[in-house]
Amino acid sequence: EYAKNQTSNNTKKSIEYKIDSLLKIMTIEEKVGQMNQYNGFWDVTGPSPKGGSAELKYEHLRKGWVGSMLTVRGVEQVKAVQKIITEESRLGIPLIIGFDVIHGYKTLSPIPLAEAASWDLEAIKKSASIAANEASASGINWTFGPMVDISRDARWGRVMEGAGEDPFLGSRVAEARVKGFQGDDLAADNTIAACAKHFAGYGFSEAGKEYNTVNIGTSTLHNVILPPFKAAVDAGVRTLMNSFNELNGVPVTGSSYLQRDILKNKWKFNGFVISDWASISEMITWGYVKDKREAAIKAVTAGSDMDMESHTYIQELAQLVKDGVVSESLLDDAVKRILRVKFELGLFENPYKYCDENREKETIGNKENNDGVLDMAKKSIVLLKNENNLLPLKKEGQKIALIGALAADKDSPLGSWRIASENNTAVSVLEGMQQYKGNSLVYKKGTDVIIGEATFLNEVKINTTDKSEFAEAIDAAKSANVVVMVLGEHGFQSGEGRSRTDLNLPGLQQELLQEVFKVNKNIVLVLQNGRPLTINWADKHIPAIVEAWQLGTQTGNAIAQVLYGDYNPSGKLPMTFPRNVGQIPIYYNYKNTGRPVDKDKNVFWSHYSDVENTPLYPFGHGLSYTTFKYSDLKISNPSFLIGDEVKISVKVSNTGNKDGKEVVQLYIRDLVASITRPVKELKGFELVELKVGETKTINFTLNNEILGFFDNEGNFIVEPGAFMVFVGGSSITELEADFELK
Ligand code: BGC
Repeated sequence: EYAKNQTSNNTKKSIEYKIDSLLKIMTIEEKVGQMNQYNGFWDVTGPSPKGGSAELKYEHLRKGWVGSMLTVRGVEQVKAVQKIITEESRLGIPLIIGFDVIHGYKTLSPIPLAEAASWDLEAIKKSASIAANEASASGINWTFGPMVDISRDARWGRVMEGAGEDPFLGSRVAEARVKGFQGDDLAADNTIAACAKHFAGYGFSEAGKEYNTVNIGTSTLHNVILPPFKAAVDAGVRTLMNSFNELNGVPVTGSSYLQRDILKNKWKFNGFVISDWASISEMITWGYVKDKREAAIKAVTAGSDMDMESHTYIQELAQLVKDGVVSESLLDDAVKRILRVKFELGLFENPYKYCDENREKETIGNKENNDGVLDMAKKSIVLLKNENNLLPLKKEGQKIALIGALAADKDSPLGSWRIASENNTAVSVLEGMQQYKGNSLVYKKGTDVIIGEATFLNEVKINTTDKSEFAEAIDAAKSANVVVMVLGEHGFQSGEGRSRTDLNLPGLQQELLQEVFKVNKNIVLVLQNGRPLTINWADKHIPAIVEAWQLGTQTGNAIAQVLYGDYNPSGKLPMTFPRNVGQIPIYYNYKNTGRPVDKDKNVFWSHYSDVENTPLYPFGHGLSYTTFKYSDLKISNPSFLIGDEVKISVKVSNTGNKDGKEVVQLYIRDLVASITRPVKELKGFELVELKVGETKTINFTLNNEILGFFDNEGNFIVEPGAFMVFVGGSSITELEADFELK
């Protein structure tokens, strides 16, 4: 009431005034309560629970010792918890309600890695705004997304949640997602607070093993890992989540360097940091602190403002302040940050503002949202290979054999992270293709992808020896003009806790592919997967390969439209595809060695003796049903002063016979620097639509921000010297030029 009775004008100044006023009347326990987040996997609308953690959570809600809940879903449930806290607790401070809205709420968009493959920032932003619209209609006002972790390791299952390997693309996608979730006005009914995670280094878990240690140098930290977080902060992200990993010996949840020095002091971030799930108490298992008391001290000192479900703060912090071990000013700093976001969301004016049953009914799963995710799904598809124009498929008079368990699967294409979508299904590829009635279509499973149960929390068993359905699939292929095989990973083989050391097609799918190939070589391989796979054999033999990831609710419609040429694909890989797992980490922006492979000089040192250095498909790769030609790369001024800008222009023409879109990519190389620089770094891109025969001139501007880099102390520097610029439709570029920075 105290806060509500202040001016309802939510200007920044008045919010700060309200925060300070409220803080003055809060007890230590109430302050700690704001820093405490509980999970809500229990029915709060039923009778009060007796015993166990649910009863404790109830009691704490009544006391106002909870600042946030996660995974409470639906208007009814959210209303119930808000009612307890606002009506029964002394100060009635509303909860901020968090949820993993990772790629849509109920209407699912493609997995984030797939969306990044669109390189279409407007579409990505739109997709996040659809997710925010649905989630906010369901009582949620905060998402634990976007995940902006850069990763170079496809073994790590969580690459499906990010934007891939590149800090520049990752930064642009991070901004788009933050703006999509948060909109222009956080207080609007249909926007939610975003959370850039996991701060920081989680994507570099050693050997791609989930939750593993991370050892990286400062150059990688500042130049590769941190930029997307900085971009998210600059885009106004209101929260960050720290991570499970340690970084060079310090669990990041206890890292003052990351959370205070960089995030809060250097970047001036004034939102709050939430720990990852129990990452505060996990510092004990890391061997960094001996008990929860020490864990609380380290985490609060380091700037972890809110404790997700480890119960460490609620158990330890108040006493630590009373004992004079932890300064109350640390609590004040954290609480102010948390209250600030709550005020910005408009929760104090109306704790039920996200709780409108009618809006919930009208919004979730409506046509507009489905159209939106379909659009995003088409844009996310990458055409990896297309020999003899096997694609697009003819629409009439063809006999098509559709093979593979994933072709009829209505669950797997939803991908990992769809907590609000238990009973949802996707349009399968079979259903999508059945709509094109001019051809005859026969479906045969051939083999399973996995056996056993696959859910977010359960184990995924992947081996099967049952070949009993091979024969009928092979038979169907024999008499078909074209075979479409949908193979890949099950949706729960990637995601959190889903690291893998074998990135071949799981189960008997590879064998099935080879058997079918023996009887019919006209195969279109459609891949569904949450990470780069090693598909060397397929690349050598199969004429057409389509990377379709896990595309969410509208999967089958999107794939069918691409296969039949009603949509011309324009996606480009956001992550390098290795030839085999031994090449990992493999990424396009690597550094040269003192002994690089140089065929002209006959030097072949830094290489493997059993596989080429090149990837199977490079970063940025993706074909179209038309062809593009690059020409006339021009630099406005090939020798210019630090601080000046230079304009680069290039002509791109559609030289094929279909209208299409191309992602024009610009890379630079700083030839000599005080910290060695990568052989190529993406520094600009533009998605261009070109009609048949059309040519457009694309302009880029290079400035200090693009030409500089971070030194080992994390200072941004720009150095004079020679540079190269490269332009093309993938990281294997087509044109290059030099310039000099003086
Ligand atoms: C994940 C986070 C997620 C959280 C809440 C953790 O296990 O690492 O990314 O937001 O759970 O579900």
